[in-house]
Amino acid sequence: MLLQMKHVAVNVLCPLCNTDRESICHVLVSCSFAQACWHRLGIGCIPTPQGIFSSWLSSILSLYSREKRQWAVMLLWALWKSRNDLVWQQRGSEVDEVIVLAKTVLNQWISAQDRSFDLSMGLVTQTDGSEH
Ligand SMILES: [Zn+2]
Repeated sequence: MLLQMKHVAVNVLCPLCNTDRESICHVLVSCSFAQACWHRLGIGCIPTPQGIFSSWLSSILSLYSREKRQWAVMLLWALWKSRNDLVWQQRGSEVDEVIVLAKTVLNQWISAQDRSFDLSMGLVTQTDGSEH
């Protein structure tokens, strides 16, 4: 938006589908690519009737179970990352890659919360001081 106001040429079309105008709501929810990801994840996705992302996110957070909220937030992050990878590194992603990324990072995050997992897996030793 700031670049447009300064008359810097920017592509206003969504880089993922190249058919609709890019907005946060479009990229993360209503884009055909995003819809394919939501469908593949299998938790469903409510529509954005007013196209207001914050209202949509509030609905998701209040309607979904804790587990579905975790998946939803992780998919939003993975979708935004795939959009940025395409825009800034010209590296496109497939639906399956986005899902695998979301699942991998969520599983890593969940296991990082579980201290007993750390001990049982022996991934962290007393000498290296690292966390995962
Ligand atoms: Zn799109």
